[in-house]
Amino acid sequence: MTRKVISLAEIRDGSLRNVSLEAIAAAKTIAQGGEVVAVLVGENVQSHANELIAHGADRVVVVEHAQLKVYTPDGYSQALMAVVEAEKPEGIVFGHTALGKDLSPKLATKLNAGLVSDVVAIEEKDGELLFTRPIYSGKAFEKKVVKDGLIFITVRPNNIPALSRDDARTGEVISLSVEIKDLRTIVKEIVRKTAEGVDLSEAKVIVAGGRGVKSEDGFKPLQELADVLGGAVGASRGACDAGYCDYSLQIGQTGKVVTPDLYIACGISGAIQHLAGMSNSKVIVAINKDPEANIFKVADYGIVGDLFEVVPLLTEEFKKLKV
Ligand code: FAD
Repeated sequence: MTRKVISLAEIRDGSLRNVSLEAIAAAKTIAQGGEVVAVLVGENVQSHANELIAHGADRVVVVEHAQLKVYTPDGYSQALMAVVEAEKPEGIVFGHTALGKDLSPKLATKLNAGLVSDVVAIEEKDGELLFTRPIYSGKAFEKKVVKDGLIFITVRPNNIPALSRDDARTGEVISLSVEIKDLRTIVKEIVRKTAEGVDLSEAKVIVAGGRGVKSEDGFKPLQELADVLGGAVGASRGACDAGYCDYSLQIGQTGKVVTPDLYIACGISGAIQHLAGMSNSKVIVAINKDPEANIFKVADYGIVGDLFEVVPLLTEEFKKLKV
């Protein structure tokens, strides 16, 4: 069965978030040969349309408005509802990001639709689409089928690969004008808590530090390793609670859930609440002084040693590989 599926593209600091391209790939699978319409919402965002087409969108709908410059639930839901009304999709895909997690249930409720959130894989079996999502903090997976009506999902970053870029693809880009009214929240200022750089929730490589890092300065060698690998720095709650870093870096049950290609855990014991946020990483390397540390149970590669000796050595070796 072919479907028309829309996918919301997210822009951060002027760039398309990678999960937007992964959402298009998910939308393609759901469309089963039908049309995939990417949606751009914001102010002056049309310039991203070609990139969405190059990554698989058949058409792009652009909703531009001064009051959509920054995300607000009211503004974006009005924009999206207008797109849904105009396009009448049979599927809607969001990234499982802060925005997607906030907006998708709001929209699903308005549309009287169910929502399958945090999808990590989509497969077709006996003519039905199965959506895989982690449950019990990542210890098990469930597969869901949407029996009737609108298929509405959010996709976890770094799980469904984006389609390769094909600049020869062409597609229509249309503007949809909307009236934005009755905003109950107005964003006055955005105060960044972390330095600009690779977004933790989308990073392909994460170097995470725990209480074993011992101080704010102790994170410096981790940042150097992350920089060489083009990755981001994360942390355990132990490190955040100790004041070594900001809570925005926290990974785990009450922090961010990440699925990078490579996760390097430095001085992290591997408490169950930390594992809940990173155990589905593709390759896990653990560096810990204690050979009995729980983190080694989930690690693909374990290094028993002092992180302050091991991390700089790794940085030097990776630098050599880059030359
Ligand atoms: P520790 O457990 O103190 O481990 C430090 C490790 O560093 C030790 O294994 C030690 O051997 C090693 N070490 C010390 N020095 C060195 C060195 N020089 N070189 C190498 N290794 C060294 N935790 C999270 O991380 N994320 C969450 O989201 C989260 N949510 C929680 C929610 C609830 C409701 C609760 C109750 C707890 C939560 N926690 C969470 C906390 C969790 O239980 C642990 O307390 C925390 O993860 C421990 O952090 P840690 O591994 O950095 O510290």
